[in-house]
Amino acid sequence: MSISKISVVVVGAGPAGFYAADALIKKKLNCEIDIIDFLPTPYGLIRAGVAPDHQTTKKVIKSFEKTALNDSCHFFGNVHIGNEISISELKEIYDAIIIATGAESDSLLDIPGSSLPGVIGSASFVGWYNAHPNYINLNPNLETNNVIIIGNGNVAIDIARVLVKNRNEMAESDIPEYALSNIENSSIKDVFIFGRRGPIEAKFTNVELREMGELKDAVAIVRPDQLPLEVGSLSDAREQRLKEKNLKTLQEFSKNKITDARKRVHFPFWYKPVKILGTQKVEGIQMEKTFLNNGILESTGEYLEIECGLVIPAIGYRSRPVKGLPFNDTDFVISNDNGRVDMGIYAVGWIKRGPSGVISTNRPDGVLAANHIENDFRDGGSKPGRTALVSMLEKKNIKFVSFEGWKLIDKAEISGAISGAPRKKFEKIDDMLDVVFYK
Ligand SMILES: Cc1cc2nc3c(=O)[nH]c(=O)nc-3n(C[C@H](O)[C@H](O)[C@H](O)COP(=O)(O)OP(=O)(O)OC[C@H]3O[C@@H](n4cnc5c(N)ncnc54)[C@H](O)[C@@H]3O)c2cc1C
Repeated sequence: MSISKISVVVVGAGPAGFYAADALIKKKLNCEIDIIDFLPTPYGLIRAGVAPDHQTTKKVIKSFEKTALNDSCHFFGNVHIGNEISISELKEIYDAIIIATGAESDSLLDIPGSSLPGVIGSASFVGWYNAHPNYINLNPNLETNNVIIIGNGNVAIDIARVLVKNRNEMAESDIPEYALSNIENSSIKDVFIFGRRGPIEAKFTNVELREMGELKDAVAIVRPDQLPLEVGSLSDAREQRLKEKNLKTLQEFSKNKITDARKRVHFPFWYKPVKILGTQKVEGIQMEKTFLNNGILESTGEYLEIECGLVIPAIGYRSRPVKGLPFNDTDFVISNDNGRVDMGIYAVGWIKRGPSGVISTNRPDGVLAANHIENDFRDGGSKPGRTALVSMLEKKNIKFVSFEGWKLIDKAEISGAISGAPRKKFEKIDDMLDVVFYK
């Protein structure tokens, strides 16, 4: 005997949301799955976070598209949960709610001067060069010789690379023209990627680090005296291999000279930010030298000051609370027990476990949520789901974008691309909606 349909809504159409939908489909439960996003476009940080010159990484959307086109799935773009529709309204019409809203804010750089204009968190900066509609008017000050990036992860590397690549190197990317021409016409010469710890502790992956050795106009600079001769022995063999590769790459970089190229990306290790200098806007940064003492980071009292007009902390992301659901203010995640928030409410991806890992790291969260739903709804569901959502949206006069609507946006972006580029992204939500509703 087949069970009655379980109505499921996924809030957030990023990787975590799609993996959850896919896991439900694979279970062959009798589910109707609606995926909601506040943007008219799906795919979350794949579209708005992954660097515009890393198009191969973005190809994962092909498998998410298959999920979206499954008969049981429906996409509702341009619908903001929390603003336009509340969680309690969703509870009334859906058996199960999966929260997949990611982590959109920056971790705060809590030092004097960090609120001065010219300090721009990586979430906003990356959103700006990826044409996320919330950040297109960011207008960062690129009239500066020096840019300081704080943090030793791949996001820091992405930002540095985008800032020093030339137009030709970005020709096959989908960077918006406003960002490309601002960068091209900027006075940036030196980008510093500062790490509080050393090269062994840095979180760069090797492919991304090596890319810094392949730039046309810029050279990677590492001080040889900051590099240990070897990694030492680590407990995890995979970690050991990665660190050895990174050290080898950094050793190669340490042979480069600052006169080798027009621009430079410096990797100063063992410095922590102390103070942003300036009165009306950023004029410089003070860093303090650090060292590790039995695994604890300590300061030396030795300072370094660099003049700059732009500081980009790339020190991690934070989730925002979802109105109506419990939030853990210490870890900045939705309060959950192994993905379960409450009966019928589940969390996946960055809002569930914090901002770590690559795209596929979100997959097991989806499987977990699907397992919970399978267990919790053994007798099937009872709530109306999609039909009730559509009438609620119509009653509230909310113009929602279906997956077919997104495909119209997609098609227009692809056909608007200049040669070599994969697409020319729309920058404003209204322009996207025009394509869908006034085609
Ligand atoms: C700068 C950057 C670069 C990265 N590069 C790579 C890379 O090269 N390779 C890689 O494997 N991983 C990369 N990652 C990691 C990867 O992007 C994440 O693991 C993944 O996107 C997290 O998925 P998520 O679904 O939890 O969140 P997200 O991708 O952020 O998706 C969340 C979705 O929820 C929507 N949303 C939020 N709030 C609401 C609301 N209230 N109502 C409706 N919708 C809402 C958002 O619009 C968004 O679409 C990168 C991350 C960043 C930040």
